[in-house]
Amino acid sequence: MTLTESRTGAPGTDGWEIVIGLEVHAQVMSDAKLFSGAATAFGAEPNSQVSLVDAAFPGMLPVINRRCVEQAVRTGLGLNAKINRRSVFDRKNYFYPDLPAGYQISQYKDPIVGEGVVTVDLENGGSCEVRIERLHLEQDAGKSIHDMDPKRTFVDLNRAGIALMEIVSKPDMRSADEAGAYLAKVRSILRYLGTCDGNMEQGSLRADVNVSVRRPGEPLGTRCEIKNLNSIRFIKQAIECEARRQIEIIEAGGAIEQQTRLFDPGRGETRAMRSKEEAHDYRYFPDPDLLPLELDPDWIAEIEASLPELPDAKKARFVADYGLSAGDAAVLVADREDADYFEAVAKGRKDPRLAGNWVINEFYGRLNKAGQHRAESPVTAEKLSGLLALIESGAISGRIAKDVFDAMFETGEDAAAIVEAKGLKQISDTGAIEEIVDRLIAENPKQVAQAKEQPKVAGWFVGQVMKATRGQANPAVVNEILKKKL
Ligand code: ADP
Ligand code: MG
Repeated sequence: MTLTESRTGAPGTDGWEIVIGLEVHAQVMSDAKLFSGAATAFGAEPNSQVSLVDAAFPGMLPVINRRCVEQAVRTGLGLNAKINRRSVFDRKNYFYPDLPAGYQISQYKDPIVGEGVVTVDLENGGSCEVRIERLHLEQDAGKSIHDMDPKRTFVDLNRAGIALMEIVSKPDMRSADEAGAYLAKVRSILRYLGTCDGNMEQGSLRADVNVSVRRPGEPLGTRCEIKNLNSIRFIKQAIECEARRQIEIIEAGGAIEQQTRLFDPGRGETRAMRSKEEAHDYRYFPDPDLLPLELDPDWIAEIEASLPELPDAKKARFVADYGLSAGDAAVLVADREDADYFEAVAKGRKDPRLAGNWVINEFYGRLNKAGQHRAESPVTAEKLSGLLALIESGAISGRIAKDVFDAMFETGEDAAAIVEAKGLKQISDTGAIEEIVDRLIAENPKQVAQAKEQPKVAGWFVGQVMKATRGQANPAVVNEILKKKL
């Protein structure tokens, strides 16, 4: 999309365009750190996963972890981005207690991955494109712990040196919803690739959000950066608060000062952390302990050949092969296992769209309500498929199927067994239905007369037949008989 195109919408932002760019920090899935062999497991005893390199003992030398490089390349390919055959590790210098070396090893001018593009699926079933500026590898820092002792701060270096991928977008998003959907899509791609677990609660994925506002058509405004957001909900809230704050300032005749800010979810506001004048001078320079990283094109090709089917390709296939709507397909492919579940349900079914509906609305609707995960439900894909087979064969109606589904969720039993035990089989026997219809016609002459004038009144008879059969009459058969008799 072009930058001049206007897509506004948040409350309190009428007549303004919000411009958003994200810097996403994704922890690389790797058993060892970026430049040391120390472990990376989450939740370990503080300082139990720290090598001498991570603690920056004198004389220690970093050694690049091939696995982390491979993961960055994989991610770059998944983001449709240019893989740079040559990249450079730089030292980013700053002083902080949780950074023992006094610098972070990062990539500055020559990142491992260049420009790319992500297709973002929007709630209305449409999509937009967000360009990627770059992806670079860098070390995570340690963690200062302020709440273990009233007077002292402790430092846990377990995170220090863990590999992060920083994925920087161009300022292509125009609303909080687009930014949220962008992050959800990036997370989905990372999980498909197996390069980051995407776990935002554990901090494996976090984002800095850059926000500016402008009148549509004007050049880009001055941005503020909101640091370290770890949920999509907070990202969306922070963007809307920050945009309103900037609009208020400009409408009152003021100007935006470029700042780094923090979001306070409790108060629903952002507040200044530091201004551009106070910004660090990181004095970047190439790390003399590390050679530039040169990638073998055959190796890149090998990695490319090993990529799984990614969400966009899967979505296109679901639309083409199963006839799903773009919106339903996007929902189903967001998670790889959800997509597999759907395909297992749809296997052998005549109407894959019905399968899509059931998986999205009944199955996930019910899981969400119960706060459960798919794996906790006794309704396997095969079992749900069995239920749909009963609908397809006319053995039960869609209405009864919902009751059967409820019972399946409770007991884990097969649909057919439940239908049998509860006597829920659909009545398609014309004789039995005709008998009921004849009785209804005899008992309700007034409605019969009306139905002759107004075909709509026939609907009333359908309802009565359903009532008499506890919803088990086959609606198609009922309609046919009514048409004949009325
Ligand atoms: P820095 O290191 O100063 O944060 P980066 O280039 O790493 O700079 O990141 C800048 C981020 O800010 C990118 O995601 C970019 O898309 C975004 N950005 C740049 N200009 C604007 C703007 N005017 N409004 C909103 N976002 C912007
Ligand atoms: Mg930044």
